[in-house]
Amino acid sequence: MLDINQIRNDFPILQQTVNGKPLVYFDNAATTQKPMQVIDRMSRYYKNENSNVHRGVHYLSQVATEAYEASRTYIANYIHASDPSEIVFTRGTTESINLVASVFESFIKEEDEIVITSMEHHSNLVPWQQLCFRTGARLVVVKASVDGELDTREFEKALNDKTRLVAIAHISNVLGTINPVKEITRLAHAAGSVVVIDGAQAIAHLPVNVADIDCEFYAFSGHKTYAPMGIGVLYGKKKWLEKLSPYQYGGEMIESVRFDKTIFNSLPYKFEAGTPNVAGALGLEEAMRYIAGFGVDEIKQYEDKLMDYATGELKKLEGMQIIGTAKQKAAVISFVIEGIHAYDLGTLLDKMGVALRTGNHCAQPLVESYGLTSTVRISLAMYNTLEEIDIFMGALQKAVSMLR
Ligand code: PMP
Repeated sequence: MLDINQIRNDFPILQQTVNGKPLVYFDNAATTQKPMQVIDRMSRYYKNENSNVHRGVHYLSQVATEAYEASRTYIANYIHASDPSEIVFTRGTTESINLVASVFESFIKEEDEIVITSMEHHSNLVPWQQLCFRTGARLVVVKASVDGELDTREFEKALNDKTRLVAIAHISNVLGTINPVKEITRLAHAAGSVVVIDGAQAIAHLPVNVADIDCEFYAFSGHKTYAPMGIGVLYGKKKWLEKLSPYQYGGEMIESVRFDKTIFNSLPYKFEAGTPNVAGALGLEEAMRYIAGFGVDEIKQYEDKLMDYATGELKKLEGMQIIGTAKQKAAVISFVIEGIHAYDLGTLLDKMGVALRTGNHCAQPLVESYGLTSTVRISLAMYNTLEEIDIFMGALQKAVSMLR
């Protein structure tokens, strides 16, 4: 059992009041809050260890380099990568996916196909769409059911010998659906395709095992996993990272440079041009240690309890439509209430101290497929409580009666 009071004490930001009301933070799919352990780790780095990495012979540079590389190793172990060199530090999911979409271009020909799903975040849609525009390849979209589920037989039908790449979210940031990524990877491999998984919503809420999924690439952001903004990871199978050209050029990513020739550095440095976000990497390691300390399975169980309770309470409201009712779901609940605009609800709830999200959640084609322009979304994390759901429901009922 998680000690939620103890957890909440680690997050000073949650102790505040907003508009005179205790903050209820239900916007965790946008970003999670950071525990003191993460904040302290970064602060300790800047107080005692700050130096550029991989460059200096001096003491601080060695301390910073060792800490940075230790973070890489910890993260590799955490997601079951086979080697730390399979972990490329990036700015976040968006950059990780753009990296692959950019350097994969040389493997895509005009007659090829790239398969995505209808529930992708723009970050896992636009880079592939633009790659198709550049190369003449076709973007194939596998549609989710109204419940927000993917039918693996439908998926299989979309795959053929032209499929070069399949890109799919592990968890949808709108519907909460947990996609069967292992099964989809197996099907994609049978068709000879590589697989890119957008793990932005999964990493803090599910055990992630890239060896078991067997995907070629897995992307995630630190800031959605209790770690700082501006740091993220691209996991790539060594075999693929070795084959791909660099994404950006400059310092760090080279082994030797002459005016007529450059030899690129070994993995993962080939993909890490310039000074990296060292404090961010240390913060990410600390956040993963924090999660591991409780056990991600325990966290999932607790978040499931919150989700079931919130879903049950929401369903009692008149005119309520929950968008995304897959059997395998994470604690992301999108909804609309008949006759009331999502934005109006969001604004009134903010006045009552509740932070949630309204809009298309960077998944415009998905939200439009429900005939909507926006939904209200609550997304829960391990520090949220049943009491907060009650406060939220009270505020929601009040807002609905004001708007009706
Ligand atoms: N994919 C999904 C499923 C997301 O929820 C998000 C963030 N909302 C992203 C990608 C993009 O993440 P970031 O902005 O951290 O790059």
